[in-house]
Amino acid sequence: MNDRSKRHLSVVKNVEAGDKSSGDDGSAGEHPEKLDPRDYARNGCVVFVGFHPDDLDFHAAGLAASLTAAGVEVVYVVVTSGEKNGNARLREHEQWMAACAVGVSRVVFLRWKDSGLAEAYRSGRLQKEMVTMLRMLRPYAVVSFSPALLTSTTFGPEHPDHRYGALALWDAIYPEARQEEKVPWWKFWREPLPGHHVREVLWFGDDLVEPYKANSFLEVDNHWGKVCNALHSHESQWKGADIQLKATARALRAAKRWRHDGIAEEYHRIVIP
Ligand SMILES: [Zn+2]
Repeated sequence: MNDRSKRHLSVVKNVEAGDKSSGDDGSAGEHPEKLDPRDYARNGCVVFVGFHPDDLDFHAAGLAASLTAAGVEVVYVVVTSGEKNGNARLREHEQWMAACAVGVSRVVFLRWKDSGLAEAYRSGRLQKEMVTMLRMLRPYAVVSFSPALLTSTTFGPEHPDHRYGALALWDAIYPEARQEEKVPWWKFWREPLPGHHVREVLWFGDDLVEPYKANSFLEVDNHWGKVCNALHSHESQWKGADIQLKATARALRAAKRWRHDGIAEEYHRIVIP
């Protein structure tokens, strides 16, 4: 068992025991449930998967800003371009601006049909796309919506693209992308993509609750200005300060749950053996 796996077991143990005690020095040893962006600096890229432009900015921009500030390569993958709620070109442009605000310089638009991900999941096509994406980008960790959104009755209303997209991504991470691709001999012009093992996932969702309740948190106090800039980049979607107030209120609630005197994001972290 490697150090990260040991640390994860420690996280689970502490969360189950309800132990959220904090030490004086703020070290990860005293706070095994506290995410440290520096842990990801040696391990390759981290891929964030959103299903519409703005999903990542509303849920995980603090993590993206913290990782890029620590020198981690972050890639945003945006599955639809949100044409149901505006002009797709404009929404992609806003997503680019939002990514820049938190230091992310790679954004991949997959341009699936907005509000069509439930159908794409049922046909199996979305899982295949996610497998290809993972094998090409080869991330150490993946950040996205929790797949518990599909089945949990304790979550509030969630867009079907979030629910089915998250499930397709989880299917792709484990086990589909890990298995070596076999290319039939008659497709001799195509090189098979080698299998890829994602080591860690960080699921998010509004105030994560059972069964995928948050077991990790990240202090984002120093990056909150960048997060607000990212949110305000989506001018076609959110007018005024409401979205900033909503995001800040949620970040304060998260911090309170983890007894952090500031602003935080929380995640359900899973280390995949
Ligand atoms: Zn969305």
